[in-house]
Amino acid sequence: MSLSFRFGTVGSPTATPPKPGGTVGGIRYAASIGLDALELAWVQGVRVGETACAAIQQAATEAGVALSVHAPYYINLNGDEEKWPRLRQYLIDAAHFGNLAGATDIIFHPGTYFGRPADEVLKVILPRLQGCVDELRASGNPVTLRPEISGKAAMLGSLSDVLEMAKTIPGVVPCIDFAHLHARLGDGAMNTYPEWMSALDFYRQALGDEAMRHLHIHLSGINYGPKGEKNHLVMEEADLDFRNLMRALHSAGVKGRIMCESPVLEVDALKFKELWMEVSGESQV
Ligand SMILES: [Zn+2]
Repeated sequence: MSLSFRFGTVGSPTATPPKPGGTVGGIRYAASIGLDALELAWVQGVRVGETACAAIQQAATEAGVALSVHAPYYINLNGDEEKWPRLRQYLIDAAHFGNLAGATDIIFHPGTYFGRPADEVLKVILPRLQGCVDELRASGNPVTLRPEISGKAAMLGSLSDVLEMAKTIPGVVPCIDFAHLHARLGDGAMNTYPEWMSALDFYRQALGDEAMRHLHIHLSGINYGPKGEKNHLVMEEADLDFRNLMRALHSAGVKGRIMCESPVLEVDALKFKELWMEVSGESQV
């Protein structure tokens, strides 16, 4: 029996051997230690060509590793009118080359409010995001675009923001970062079983049962202050209640991928997998 979740890292595992190295090496190493997902960290820019993408896709298929892409940090759906054509190209390029590499999901940071109310910002960004999806579909690209929940209250990307994007635009589905969700308001909220159950319920009401079988989750420990996220932490150093989070995911009957972003990537990814198996009672045969 396979597990309800695939587990992996955002970026190649830290201990990936130097040969063959690169993304292909990262995929093979991830599979060799018991991980079955990898998010390609194209966060500083999309610097791959078609040949590299074909090699990545082949390696992932052979290793049974599911791929996603973390698009460049520079994307900002709420950027100035004059900057927008350049900003959107980061998302289009990540989606184009990600699809060539066999990735099914493109994760991106939606941007900033620039101090404006969320509802005003959504009016600006929804048509822009729709335009990106339209362009991808016109070129035959089926990837899912995943705006990520942000770790700071000043940044676009509350749970309701990303659900609004997903409800409005087919082909857009959130990336749920539980560390960011916890850090975002800076008061220690979103760290208990009932809070996670209500968040998952809110998600189900917005997007329906089918979406609950394809959650894309980012997870790590997190350090935060009154303004939200400061930096990611290893599991043991963080106040996040990982065990009760796994209990909530199990009670909600959800499936998908859990991608680790802690400083000790694969070490914590494997701990998340172990904890999930313990809490859910699922096993791999
Ligand atoms: Zn991210």
